[in-house]
Amino acid sequence: MAGAGGKTRQAARSSGGVMLIASILVLSVRSFARAQDFGYDGAKGPSHWGEQYNSCTGKHQSPININSLDVKKVNLPPLVFHGFDVAPKETNLTNNGHTVFVTMDSEVTPTVAGGPLSGVYEYSQLHFHWGDNDTFGSEDMIDNHRFPMELHIVFFKQEYQNARTALNHPDGLTVLAFFFEIAPEDNPMYAEFIELLGNVTESHQSARFDVPPSLKELIAEDLLHYYTYDGSLTTPPCSEVVTWIDFKEPILLSHAQVQAFRALQDEEGHPLTHNFRPVQPLGDRVVLFNTDEMIKEVDLDKDLPPEAGEGVDTNKLDTPIKAAGVGSQSAKDPNDRKHPRNGAPFPSVNHWSLLTSAMVVVTLLFQSTIE
Ligand SMILES: [Zn+2]
Repeated sequence: MAGAGGKTRQAARSSGGVMLIASILVLSVRSFARAQDFGYDGAKGPSHWGEQYNSCTGKHQSPININSLDVKKVNLPPLVFHGFDVAPKETNLTNNGHTVFVTMDSEVTPTVAGGPLSGVYEYSQLHFHWGDNDTFGSEDMIDNHRFPMELHIVFFKQEYQNARTALNHPDGLTVLAFFFEIAPEDNPMYAEFIELLGNVTESHQSARFDVPPSLKELIAEDLLHYYTYDGSLTTPPCSEVVTWIDFKEPILLSHAQVQAFRALQDEEGHPLTHNFRPVQPLGDRVVLFNTDEMIKEVDLDKDLPPEAGEGVDTNKLDTPIKAAGVGSQSAKDPNDRKHPRNGAPFPSVNHWSLLTSAMVVVTLLFQSTIE
């Protein structure tokens, strides 16, 4: 067929193109179907994930047990949060059969930078992991202690455009993780959230918030003390592309509020009573703990005397972080708050604001597979 005429070659090219597109579609559908094909028990359980997903047997997997006596204390540059205090235009809650996740359409897409991160990371979605009762449910453990629930707020590195392509880069994602603890009283910030869980009991159901919460309203106040390490997605495909940032201060929910998550159902209509992966070996990794105590071993102020060390000495940055509007859960007016733009070794907030405002928020089907 090498000597075939132009028309034949054109037809061949054209049909080749159609086949290529068809193949891509088939592959996409297949990979999506595969990505959904996992569970937490029996033949689909975590010990079998590696049979279909090579990365799940990798050496830098998550979750891990963090031994607080074996972490390296550091003074990292301040984390810079942007858009965390802005209430989205629309926020939706979806049960995907593995967890319940939240997507938002906001004029200001939340971003996080600084700390252990290089570059700016953009909000993708948030979701939860929990257990059959209040004595376990979190994925990462601290000193062999499991918390009843854990929140994962997933961000992709802005230069990689979206969460899907970010999976191809070792620094593609960061997850802000918050543990939960049981309190005697309901947490009012989660009131509508918990109410909406009743509307998404079955897999693939979605519900819309009447009053979309800002991210700040859903997280803890202390954003200075955190553990950080390099790990993976905790669900297939287990890609080792996640910078984990686990905040020390837990979020408080009542027993009844946590219990509401256990009423959700998986794809087969069974109660989704647990959805956490067992801890994985730490291997050669070192977990860092960010503290506001000055760490002498970290020679950050070698060339900068303390009085000239703004942006390096995290004690000094303590104040702007707390004044940054990501701390107080009671403040409601986004205009009340300022961001720690001074001293942070990152682009100005306004600059990123323009960029992020210009971006259209697209809820990718893929989002539901990053858990
Ligand atoms: Zn997760």
